[in-house]
Amino acid sequence: MYESRLLNNLPRVREAIEKATMRAGRNPGDVTLVAVTKAHPPEALRAALAAGIRDLGENRIEELEGKVGLLGRDAATWHMVGHVQGRKAKQAVELADMIHSLDTYKLARRVSSFASEGGIRVPVLVQVKLSGEEAKSGFSRDRAVEAVHEILELPGVEVRGLMTMAPFVDDERVLRRTFVGLRRIQEEACKLPGYEGRELSMGMTNDFELAVEEGSTMVRIGTALFGERPR
Ligand SMILES: *Cc1c(COP(=O)(O)O)cnc(C)c1O
Repeated sequence: MYESRLLNNLPRVREAIEKATMRAGRNPGDVTLVAVTKAHPPEALRAALAAGIRDLGENRIEELEGKVGLLGRDAATWHMVGHVQGRKAKQAVELADMIHSLDTYKLARRVSSFASEGGIRVPVLVQVKLSGEEAKSGFSRDRAVEAVHEILELPGVEVRGLMTMAPFVDDERVLRRTFVGLRRIQEEACKLPGYEGRELSMGMTNDFELAVEEGSTMVRIGTALFGERPR
């Protein structure tokens, strides 16, 4: 089932990304497609890998752990895209090739210390909350650059860029404002000494074309690839 869905959906998603990059005068190769497989069975991940997808995303540590266990740590580039509880920081460090969701300094410190203990530096993104929605996590716009500055000092993390989640709305202006907002914060952060983050993780099924037009370098797409999530 997942194979046929991907056969149908993957070329469309890739084409939509490519067209959005061209509208923005960007290079299609500058956008990484992270296939978000949360709530889908391992079959979905196998189909994605068989279809040539390399980057897989999960939003819960338990699920990431189960799937990495089944498919293998080296089978994919694993992205942790959801909120990480402090007590799961160690697993996040071990299981993810990139953590998109550093949303507090405390979590950043925990991640850094587990990584240091393991003798590695984990690629991370600093999550920024631009929507004002209480349910979403992340540093506020006002705090974001300062947070990047502080996290840069931590030895166990390598700050690769920023991440945000747009509100789930159809209003193009609201979405664009969110993505432009993250890009501006990136421009500010780029003035920090030692900051070499170039990634902007933004754009999901609902809004990835706008996100790419506004500079996204990583889109996190679930539904448009795999269909509605099973309950
Ligand atoms: C679920 C999820 C996605 C993908 O959502 P879709 O709307 O299905 O594309 C992207 N990012 C995060 C953080 C998610 O939790």
